[in-house]
Amino acid sequence: MKLRHMIALMLAAGVSATAAAQNINRVRELLEEMQQEVEMIEKRQAETATVVPVKTEPVESVADTNGVLPLDTLPTMNDAVKIVIYNDNTWKYMRDRQYVKDSAVYVQYWDTTTLFPYRDVTLASLPASVAIDLVDSLKCYHYPGKGKLRSKYGPRRRRQHQGVDIPLKMGEPVYAVFNGRVRISQYNRGGYGNLVVIRHDNGLETFSGHLSERLVQSGDWVEAGQIIGFCGSTGRSTGPHLHFETRYCGQTFDPERLIDFESGNLRRQTFLLKKSFFDIRSNMAQDFEDEISLAEEDQKAAAEKAAMAYHKIRSGDTLGAIAQRYGTTVSKLCSLNGITSKTTLRIGRTLRVR
Ligand SMILES: [Zn+2]
Repeated sequence: MKLRHMIALMLAAGVSATAAAQNINRVRELLEEMQQEVEMIEKRQAETATVVPVKTEPVESVADTNGVLPLDTLPTMNDAVKIVIYNDNTWKYMRDRQYVKDSAVYVQYWDTTTLFPYRDVTLASLPASVAIDLVDSLKCYHYPGKGKLRSKYGPRRRRQHQGVDIPLKMGEPVYAVFNGRVRISQYNRGGYGNLVVIRHDNGLETFSGHLSERLVQSGDWVEAGQIIGFCGSTGRSTGPHLHFETRYCGQTFDPERLIDFESGNLRRQTFLLKKSFFDIRSNMAQDFEDEISLAEEDQKAAAEKAAMAYHKIRSGDTLGAIAQRYGTTVSKLCSLNGITSKTTLRIGRTLRVR
């Protein structure tokens, strides 16, 4: 709140020349105070970084920035951090990307043509767990797309779904989840169709497949919330949706561990990625024949569940009468409920009839 007050004062100073002259020393003082505050925050961050706090509060997806424009940038004592003031009287700290761009994340295993460059990183060579800072105090996060998942992640019946299927409409925007750099943007013949792979500052990679259009190129730096393409049905796909994968060193894990896709919120700020989250086949590309079979089986199971109906037994009910009432047969009722035609019907018991 103190900082907000200062910003208001400074903005007022910018509007009126007289006020600026009168306030120039005050503004200088305020800037110094702000710089001290930034240093304090960073010192605190540096102290806590070694402890690796696991924060569990959910993080809301950033708001759309329509119409909100940066007015000015103020330096701080730390060259890596700037203060940006917006035209709606808000401000925020901004990390200078140049400092991030030089980090090892964007040098090691950086390959703009191979889908899986982490060739010598085996499941066995990974640590038992690794703490990943998903967002820092700048909260740079945006959902890739949101909605009730059409198909979840995971190995099932010898098939593997390496990501989640988000039910977006044709042409709906797909967003960069965290800040990062586009490693691959190409049409993939393995079934992903138009695919964008982004490596993020936090070391994770996200895969977005079946896009109708790609808006970013390999090598582009992207910000969380930037539109990277539009939903489509390219490649091996059964209709418009976003196939979205999260990978660490080439291995997939369940994106729902990070994101609540129905609300679009990030589940936590720091993520403890455990080796047990990976499957033995999690270093492979999605087999889209598997994806299609899984989606069909899920759909069938959901339809069966939706069609289920029950009857509560009342005095005088007989299996024959119940069967007739629901347009079924006594033998079907028996097999659905694991009973025989001789079983005594207890009043109040529920029978499945469909
Ligand atoms: Zn999928």
